[in-house]
Amino acid sequence: MKISADNLLDRLRSNNPKADLDLVRMAFDYAQEAHAGQLRKSGDPYILHPLRTAEYLAGLRLPVPIVIAGLLHDVPEDTSVSLDQIRKDFGPDIAGMVEGVTKLSNIKYRGIIRYVENLRKMFVAMASDVRVILIKFADRKHNLETLDSLLPIKRQRIALESLEIYAPIASRLGMNEIKGQIEDLCFQHVLPQEYERVSALAKEAVSVRHSYVQRAQRAVEHDLRRAGIPVVGIEGRVKHLYSLYRKLQKRDQDISQIHDLIALRVIMADVAGCYAALGIIHNRWKPMQGRIKDYIAVPKTNGYRSLHTTVEGTHGETVEFQIRTREMHEQAERGIAAHWQYDEDGKRASAAVRTQLAWVRELADGLPAGRPNHEGNFLESLAALNVDVLQNRIFVFTPEGDVIDLPEGSTPVDFAYVIHSEIGDGCGGAKINDEMVSLDSRLQTGDVCEILVDRNRPGPNPDWIDFVKTSNARSHIRSHTRAKIASWAADEPSLPATPMELSRSGKKKVGRYSLPIIKVD
Ligand code: MN
Repeated sequence: MKISADNLLDRLRSNNPKADLDLVRMAFDYAQEAHAGQLRKSGDPYILHPLRTAEYLAGLRLPVPIVIAGLLHDVPEDTSVSLDQIRKDFGPDIAGMVEGVTKLSNIKYRGIIRYVENLRKMFVAMASDVRVILIKFADRKHNLETLDSLLPIKRQRIALESLEIYAPIASRLGMNEIKGQIEDLCFQHVLPQEYERVSALAKEAVSVRHSYVQRAQRAVEHDLRRAGIPVVGIEGRVKHLYSLYRKLQKRDQDISQIHDLIALRVIMADVAGCYAALGIIHNRWKPMQGRIKDYIAVPKTNGYRSLHTTVEGTHGETVEFQIRTREMHEQAERGIAAHWQYDEDGKRASAAVRTQLAWVRELADGLPAGRPNHEGNFLESLAALNVDVLQNRIFVFTPEGDVIDLPEGSTPVDFAYVIHSEIGDGCGGAKINDEMVSLDSRLQTGDVCEILVDRNRPGPNPDWIDFVKTSNARSHIRSHTRAKIASWAADEPSLPATPMELSRSGKKKVGRYSLPIIKVD
């Protein structure tokens, strides 16, 4: 297969006719030679992966040095060409980005316990050079697009990691487009059945709504023209599937309550135009109460600005409008990446980015590496900064400082069963942050939970079923209750399995086991 950099070069040329493409050509040849003979799991030549990564970065209209670092990002890790060599050939700036990406690729997702540690590494990398994260996003996006060639277990873990770590960070950096893309790519692997269900549901609802949304669009265009207010453009956008799935969970799966399934984006020439358009829309249709949001006057924490309103048609049909200037639109789609646009040398961008990312540095600065007791502080800082990474899950600490992850609403009994089934079965009481609490108390992120084990306890209380949140706890309680009933029926005391019985198969039970380690390129 002949692979060429023509598309990449065309893209860069259209971004900036004056861009220096010689260095890009050289970097492509360099990477191609370094990866010569290597294949991806899919059977494609390896160079295709760095090339797609670079194309995606060019698509975000990022400057040439970042795109070149994208082409070279797997060279030091996977080939005989060293980082020092790259530094000699491409200079310290590009080599520094490649080094940052290489360091991050050494993070292995070993299950949920390492989650906080991984997050922390991402923030430290971002603090030193946010461009590294942009390359990592592009790299990850291509890996997600080619997940099908991996084994199912690997596929699941990469998708889950991306959903839990990459997507929330993209969101916090305001990069909504890539956040939506990453989430949807993961969604089909993590929850394949839900993915099928939600996409079928969305397809039907979109086809029903399509025509009246189009009518609404034409009506607004007409009204704006008649009022003599210049409009840059109006476009419809269909909600990303994972985001729809999340919203359906909050709305009892009732898609009629999802008003922004198709939203109309009205792009205006300036801020005054945005407010004028809002008035024109409300003049024609009745706005729904509580759904007018002014994110221009009060931007979201990730920098998002727009006016939102949902209006009701004569037959009860609803349309959401998102009104913004072109600049706000760029910002909403590309987030932090929008800062580099039209600024090839990246200098002006770095000042703006530095201001916007002050919070990342602050967060990373206060982070001593690898000490579990500080993870609580880190999580608290994240929460204080409104980083929405912990949606639907909580992290609770053992008195020894280990992190246990649980679904929201979990109780000390759930916590106990995660630690060990015997601790769960013998759970006699619990302390949260040194205070005695009842076993059905709800745990919060950052809590330190201690289980008081009652050695004389005959087993779990069947009533716990009513409040536990995890299936692990539920199945232990159920099976214990069932065993007890069975032993009463047999009218003889149930005997615990002897060590002899356990080892009858001749295989020794090993207490330690390791999770498969993921290596993504
Ligand atoms: Mn890679």
